[in-house]
Amino acid sequence: MKITFFGGAQTVTGSMHLIEVNGFKILLECGLFQGRRQEYYERNQNFTFDPAEVDILLLSHAHIDHSGNIPNLVKKGFRGRIFATEPTVELVKLLLMDSAYLQEMDIRWVNKIRAKSGQPSVEPLYTKEDVARSLGYFEPILYDETFEPLEGVQVTFREAGHILGSAGILLEIKEKGKSYRLGFTGDLGRYHAALVRDPNPMRDLDILITETTYGRRRHSSQEAIDEQLCEIITSCCSEGGKVIIPAFALGRTQQIVYYLHNLYAQDRIPDIPIYVDSPLARRTTEVFRKYTDYLDRKTDRLFLQDHQDPFSFDRLTYVDEVEESKALNNLVVPHIIISASGMCEGGRILHHLKNNLDNPNTTILFVGYAAKNTLARKIMEGEKKVKIFGEVYPVKAKIKIMDSFSAHGDRRDILNYADFSPPERLKHIFLVHGEPEQAASLIDAYRSKGYRSVVMPQLGESFEF
Ligand SMILES: [Zn+2]
Ligand SMILES: [Zn+2]
Repeated sequence: MKITFFGGAQTVTGSMHLIEVNGFKILLECGLFQGRRQEYYERNQNFTFDPAEVDILLLSHAHIDHSGNIPNLVKKGFRGRIFATEPTVELVKLLLMDSAYLQEMDIRWVNKIRAKSGQPSVEPLYTKEDVARSLGYFEPILYDETFEPLEGVQVTFREAGHILGSAGILLEIKEKGKSYRLGFTGDLGRYHAALVRDPNPMRDLDILITETTYGRRRHSSQEAIDEQLCEIITSCCSEGGKVIIPAFALGRTQQIVYYLHNLYAQDRIPDIPIYVDSPLARRTTEVFRKYTDYLDRKTDRLFLQDHQDPFSFDRLTYVDEVEESKALNNLVVPHIIISASGMCEGGRILHHLKNNLDNPNTTILFVGYAAKNTLARKIMEGEKKVKIFGEVYPVKAKIKIMDSFSAHGDRRDILNYADFSPPERLKHIFLVHGEPEQAASLIDAYRSKGYRSVVMPQLGESFEF
């Protein structure tokens, strides 16, 4: 058996790992690499293996850093089966269509600039037609039901507790008289998080591939979320300002809405209008409503027994039309805007930032992870001037960061995951989906627990067993 790490290696985005066993090729994830435009365009465009030779693709969840390059994989020859949970299949359809739209918009802008300097135009990574074609290869599967897509390879998806439909993937492999239990965490969620269920860890693994987004961090407790949110919103409103929250359309937006709904119902935040300005977020919220039995018991009960919808209340408006979105800019009363993308790399959030970054009465509230070199990361790190659509804007708004919303486990959660597999059994741990300083800090911690082989693979590095 051989594993090669083709993405998410010493970085968070672009998750992609290839397992070769019994003459088969299994791809774990096919994520989009996000960062500097030129770099990501080239890296996403070209696979360093032949997609036509891949037999199956196992997808842990719908986020673009895990699924975003699937249409290109199909475009380049992949004709196998793609397995994911039912909500993931529905969500991925929405996210990939949105991604294609953003790619097409982005490339139009790139080509305009290229034309000015006489360079030939380039193609988008993929189009909506490519997305539509790739959707035909998806097969929905259930949690905890083991299936054997290839001879000698049994697969089970386990709740990851990260977003709706997210899974960790267990592969039970038999090869030449040897057997391995290989576990891939996908994106590992937190315990007791709002909306989603708790992670269901895999036991007695021989090989663990684990995400390490927050390998060095301890998250602040979720109990403090209400207080922090109240404080930020109330103080911004008292100055007559607006609160802009960049948020992933899938997962984070629903969580924020859920919290705001509770705070509003308890009269703990001012009675101001709240807008979710993202058509994609509105659509992904529909999928949440459809799959309440995949959410935690509390939320499911709210829907089924109490006939309450946590994603809607009278102060909340989902903004669909572009004109409505533009009109928000003329609103003079205090209000809250939740808009995508969370990393501020595209979408309507860019217009809200462009129009409000220079206003000291505005608060920009970051509630999620942002990859290196993304606009969100630059603002979070305190840059005083940023570029949006090629123009420079000064940052005068108040910048607030709340890490307590994270949908990723922290250092303790990641380390504890290995406890279900004793060191005499778990011989290899691979640290992926994390920046080097986050992942590296885990190596000694694992070793002190008795795990001897803990590796942070490099891009393209292979390991044989
Ligand atoms: Zn994710
Ligand atoms: Zn991820």
